[in-house]
Amino acid sequence: MSIADQLVSIKSKLPKTVTLVAVSKTKPNTDILEAYSEGQRVFGENKVQELVKKQEELPKDIQWHMIGHLQRNKVKFIAPFVTLIHGVDNLKLLQEIDKRAVQNNRKIDCLLQVHIAKEDTKFGFGIQEVTQVLFATSSFKNIRIVGLMGMATFTNDNNQIKEEFKSLKTVFNSIKNDNITTLSMGMSGDYPLAIEQGSTMVRVGSAIFGHRN
Ligand SMILES: *Cc1c(COP(=O)(O)O)cnc(C)c1O
Repeated sequence: MSIADQLVSIKSKLPKTVTLVAVSKTKPNTDILEAYSEGQRVFGENKVQELVKKQEELPKDIQWHMIGHLQRNKVKFIAPFVTLIHGVDNLKLLQEIDKRAVQNNRKIDCLLQVHIAKEDTKFGFGIQEVTQVLFATSSFKNIRIVGLMGMATFTNDNNQIKEEFKSLKTVFNSIKNDNITTLSMGMSGDYPLAIEQGSTMVRVGSAIFGHRN
């Protein structure tokens, strides 16, 4: 199937309340433009350099999401334009995002990444830390923490994935308010499970653009 066909097929399976982030990392601009022609405007990248380059080259009404691990010294490159930063996993990073947002005279939306997977390789705050982080950043004027992001363990055990998503949804429910409305969970392999567990934003790459090298 073409990229356009894959995109249409996935969108037809998503509830209207769920935002699709098309994860275009490693893929060429031509692929992104094919999805763009089909109406897709939200794209996710995980490398700052690639994100900046694509932002410069592609239509200006694309909303770019930074979904990967973000290093503090690279925040300045994406601060002028980034729509949402998904993987925020430490306070110093939030502080830096706030500072760069001030310099760009804008507010930057962020999601706190929460560690839900059993495997210990994934980044993120512990479930218990979330309310402390919200408190610690309440004075930061130029960031908005609009929700949470999480990644399940890479496994075939659907029950485990379900339980991990459910744990994130529980934390989300406990902090949800008028500003905290986004729950980013679910990728190509597990987005139907994530939606069942209450995801409001899925990050789908290979199921749209095909496998990456
Ligand atoms: C690459 C990536 C995705 C998309 O992965 P697919 O399995 O290709 O859908 C989603 N989220 C993050 C954080 C990623 O790095």
